[in-house]
Amino acid sequence: MSDFEYTPAPESRDIARLKPRYQIFVDGAFRDGSGVGTTSINPADEFPLTEIAEAGASDVADAVEAAHRAFDGPWAAMAGKERGKYLFRIARGIQERARELAVLESLDNGKPIRESRDVDIPGAAAHFFYYAGWADKLAYAGFGPAPQPVGVVGQVIPWNFPLLMAAWKIAPALACGNTVVLKAAETTPLTALVLAEIVAEADLPPGVVNILAGGPSVGQAVVASADVDKIAFTGSTEVGKIIARALAGTGKRLSLELGGKAANIVFDDAPLDEAVEGIVDGIFFNQGQVCCAGSRLLVQESVADELIVALKRRLSRLRIGDPLDKNTDIGAINSATQLARIRELCASGEADGATPWSPPGTLPERGFWFAPTIFTGVSPAHRIAREEIFGPVLSVLTFRTPSEAIEKANNTPYGLSAGVWTEKGSRILAVAGQLRAGVVWANTFNRFDPTAPFGGYKESGFGREGGRHGLEEYLDV
Ligand code: NAD
Repeated sequence: MSDFEYTPAPESRDIARLKPRYQIFVDGAFRDGSGVGTTSINPADEFPLTEIAEAGASDVADAVEAAHRAFDGPWAAMAGKERGKYLFRIARGIQERARELAVLESLDNGKPIRESRDVDIPGAAAHFFYYAGWADKLAYAGFGPAPQPVGVVGQVIPWNFPLLMAAWKIAPALACGNTVVLKAAETTPLTALVLAEIVAEADLPPGVVNILAGGPSVGQAVVASADVDKIAFTGSTEVGKIIARALAGTGKRLSLELGGKAANIVFDDAPLDEAVEGIVDGIFFNQGQVCCAGSRLLVQESVADELIVALKRRLSRLRIGDPLDKNTDIGAINSATQLARIRELCASGEADGATPWSPPGTLPERGFWFAPTIFTGVSPAHRIAREEIFGPVLSVLTFRTPSEAIEKANNTPYGLSAGVWTEKGSRILAVAGQLRAGVVWANTFNRFDPTAPFGGYKESGFGREGGRHGLEEYLDV
């Protein structure tokens, strides 16, 4: 088959309406935080994008106080039907500014525009629409006739799905009648700060939603605030453990959405071409910077060679480069720090004796780039089989029997997601039931829907986001 050349089709960066400076949002108003502030850079070329005001301790205190006033004042007492209207307005606001948000997300995060346009931004709007629908139906959600909100919720999110994670946190909290103080990740605060504009345009009572930018110290201040009733954290297992320790004995509620090392299990009767698509989507979507990424491929020995040949052929067709180009499959790594971590873990894989392979081609000279990589000859003891790489790196292991596949899949401290590929429905059910993972996809991978609960076991955290289960985290039940 001949190759077709793709003419570049970049989305214009003007659509992002980048401002020279972004401010934090406290008590219904934008302000320059008392933090030092930072310059946001584009990970695809390392050039500065804009200046960002960051919160200091006094801003965290003000935000929590404002959230309390709003909770005690208009918000918690408001009829669910009225609260729902605000959520619908936010959802529509996201849709109206979808193109702008998609370009901004790709500039700030490095992810391909195809993903921010088709997954992140529509997913964020869908979360607000979904939970808007719950706001006046909480009495029928299975948590008693009059479930009450928890109060003021502190929320801390990571950089891999900046707007989507903000939506996952804010939408259910508001639907249940809570008020929030959300801290965006240090490298990707832009879309959360535009979400603050949307919140302001939706005319929410001041203090219901507060959005802060800043680094770990701001997150720590939110967690440490005595007047916060619950912390909802998404991020690394390492920081999740620190937060769990800090909150032990305080009586504050906590939900943790942490890391993962998912097994994507391919049986010998699986449709291999479809499996290849699912494997690629599982580990190379968002450059592998996905908590539920299928980073361990477990393939049945009898089809391993055939599958790896097909996988390499498919990888050779992926287009790597400008995140704003609509043809791009693989964008930039989010930060120099993350790139260094990926490189370090890959070097350990080679040192341990595994064999890396990447498709031929050159990477852009400037920016943070890492070629999609497959490691074969991986043993379960290798670090690349055990630790979350959070990059476009797939570790391939083999198995002979279903029980061996299950044992290897569960041989991890994590338990967030897994995939099963087989023609047999009975095998899907049998295997899925024995996998210790919060989500198990069958003959697909990385499918999300606001109606479906998502969350982990073991070191992947506790609590569920999405669906009816997601309400429970924000109700006093
Ligand atoms: P991270 O834990 O370093 O940071 C996450 C957030 O916590 C950031 O906003 C950061 O500023 C803040 N933070 C850092 N130290 C803190 C502290 N001591 N107290 C309070 N806040 C603190 O994680 P990251 O590198 O930004 O994100 C990648 C991680 O997130 C991966 O491990 C990934 O698996 C995980 N993740 C999980 C899910 C999920 O739903 N399970 C979703 C996305 C990402």
